[in-house]
Amino acid sequence: MSRFAIGVDLGGTNLRIAAVGEDGKILEVITTETEVARGRGLVLDEMCDAITKLSAKHNTNGSLCGIGIGVPGIIDMKSGMVLKSPNLPDWTDYPVQQEIERRLSTTVILENDANAAAFGEKWMGAGRDQDDLCMFTLGTGVGGGLVFDGKIWRGMTGMAGELGHTTVFADGHPCKCGSRGCVEQYASATAIKRMAIEAIERGGASELEKAAKAPTPEFSAQVIYKLAMAGDKPAQLIFQKVGQALGIALATFINALNLPMYVVGGGVSHSWDAFAPAMFEEIKFRSFVYVATSGEDPKAPRLQKTIITRALLGGDAGLLGAARLPMVMNKH
Ligand SMILES: [Zn+2]
Repeated sequence: MSRFAIGVDLGGTNLRIAAVGEDGKILEVITTETEVARGRGLVLDEMCDAITKLSAKHNTNGSLCGIGIGVPGIIDMKSGMVLKSPNLPDWTDYPVQQEIERRLSTTVILENDANAAAFGEKWMGAGRDQDDLCMFTLGTGVGGGLVFDGKIWRGMTGMAGELGHTTVFADGHPCKCGSRGCVEQYASATAIKRMAIEAIERGGASELEKAAKAPTPEFSAQVIYKLAMAGDKPAQLIFQKVGQALGIALATFINALNLPMYVVGGGVSHSWDAFAPAMFEEIKFRSFVYVATSGEDPKAPRLQKTIITRALLGGDAGLLGAARLPMVMNKH
């Protein structure tokens, strides 16, 4: 009999819950109107209602093997608790996993949302033919995930993969993690908007200023991307900074890990055309491991290529990765 699992993505503004078959097919998605910021109680109620509804409807497709939940924060895998989550302050030090298991009487696995996205891309996306990959998720912040030998690399205490806090400029912009110059401060949607406001304040960025003052559309990374693609120089410089920062971070991991694939996902990855040239330039400058494995040097030995690519699953990566967790766990 075939099996299915439920994946939950708590990462965005809204809550998304999907029933996913063992073949990776998304059977149904429920997106709740509840804003995650409205509090734990409400979100837990809606999540459990939606899970119950989905599992009742889809149990004709096979047996439910469990629930995986991607959470934006640091998870203690042993206790099933959220240790730290800037976006979900009232979820910390609360037994989320036990509470949902008690309500629904099934296996529940919590995972960091960026780890879940990397696992999703490995399963059904850009990394489906790879055993090892590293993924950067460029969203409101910058998340990271490492998959080694087909499994999420969690490290000693489950805190591994915090790639967004890689230092790329030693004296750079302060970060909420306490450090300065983290890649998150240059390659996230939040950072793109901040850099645009900085450019406006410096002067000489009239198109950005006009867009920032316009009532619609809301001034966002997407709006700034469109200006860059239309040839606006100040907007292009912002995306060069995005590419430079991401390239420095990627070069570090390419040199350290020598993996076959590095995936760039999240909303900002749709601006690939605007930041990728600067990103590749930086990687070639800083990573001799990349240069040796880029396939571009005809005199270099014919080594397996390092692939740096866009994610393929968009917002479904986290849902798919979360749903995959209980499927894999029950096999062992
Ligand atoms: Zn940081």
